[in-house]
Amino acid sequence: MMRTVNAFAASSATEPLGPTTIERRDPLPHDVVIEIKYAGICHSDIHHARGDWKSETYPMVPGHEIAGVVTKVGSAVTGHEVGDRVGVGCMVDSCRECVNCRAGEQQYCLNGTVLTYAGRDRDGRPTQGGYSTHIVVTEDFVLNIPEGLSPAEAAPLLCAGITTYAPLRQWNAGPGKRVAVVGLGGLGHVAVKLARAMGADVTVLSRTLKKQDDGFSLGAHDYRATEDLATFEELAGSFDLIVNTVSASVDVSAYLSLLGLDGALANVGAPPDPVSFNVFSLLGNRRSMSGSLIGGIRETQEMLDFCAEHGVGAEVEVIGAEKINEAYDRVLASDVRYRFVIDIATLA
Ligand code: NAP
Ligand code: ZN
Ligand code: ZN
Repeated sequence: MMRTVNAFAASSATEPLGPTTIERRDPLPHDVVIEIKYAGICHSDIHHARGDWKSETYPMVPGHEIAGVVTKVGSAVTGHEVGDRVGVGCMVDSCRECVNCRAGEQQYCLNGTVLTYAGRDRDGRPTQGGYSTHIVVTEDFVLNIPEGLSPAEAAPLLCAGITTYAPLRQWNAGPGKRVAVVGLGGLGHVAVKLARAMGADVTVLSRTLKKQDDGFSLGAHDYRATEDLATFEELAGSFDLIVNTVSASVDVSAYLSLLGLDGALANVGAPPDPVSFNVFSLLGNRRSMSGSLIGGIRETQEMLDFCAEHGVGAEVEVIGAEKINEAYDRVLASDVRYRFVIDIATLA
């Protein structure tokens, strides 16, 4: 049995998104049915919808920053109840058996993580994401949204939050650590709040000074414009960790030169084009170049709890579904302060 629900979908890589309907399965014993309240617009939604990374399957319903309420549970569900405030991020299942799944790193499942959309579910059907009124997800991939976080400000944490939390933790952001965040967009603004809440010394590296006041309000101690090349001379060797959230290729060698001894450049931005850099910029100061993909389910819950405890939520502009295409254009123009979130009631 299937249930038809309203959604907003891309029908090709070049056409605007538009209203449609999709089918959601009736809950299996371990499934949770979620009425979606808000869905964030991640830059990855745009990369996927426009086929930036690979050729995709259409129609595609994007959305992997999902906040909603449980309306029904399968007969064997133990961790969630009707009425619970819950979230779903970038994945809805994995093999659960491989060494990475067993380590709680389901995003690196050796047998293929099931992405929330643009993926294939275990039954072989294409997955469809959060720009829809309901989603049905196996209970182990459903997160609890703690009291103290509103659903609209929590939704972006399910991707932007965990994607920046994971490398900040991996590289021990905290007191005494100098952390820079490159790109003040959806991921970047949450990274600044998280790094500040962890106790690090935080610098924003944005292209211009346009968002300087916001950078300081979000918690940064310093804010520099990277279009001013003097920035790279002045800050040479001064960071322990740089989190690069930029959606396009940047001058990696220039950012590496900003790292001190054993410093790391953690890439979370996912530009479609390859980047190149001078290896000598790694040899000096024994630097590391790394990357990170979202985060596991356990760490995602830890991040949500951390955010609730420290009052970290996304800065959101709530829009109706009819504004999704306009929002995509504004994200591409870096005209977002700092995450668009769709009010899913406008799809009903
Ligand atoms: P976003 O809101 O568009 O933010 C990206 C920021 O990068 C912009 O605000 C801008 O900051 C800067 N930027 C944009 N174009 C640039 C250019 N040509 N040169 C230099 N800087 C530029 O996007 P987002 O949602 O934060 O996502 C950022 C990237 O992370 C995307 O590629 C997305 O796919 C990827 N992502 C990866 C993961 C993961 O698991 N690794 C998860 C989610 C998203 P300034 O205006 O301040 O310079
Ligand atoms: Zn995302
Ligand atoms: Zn696995």
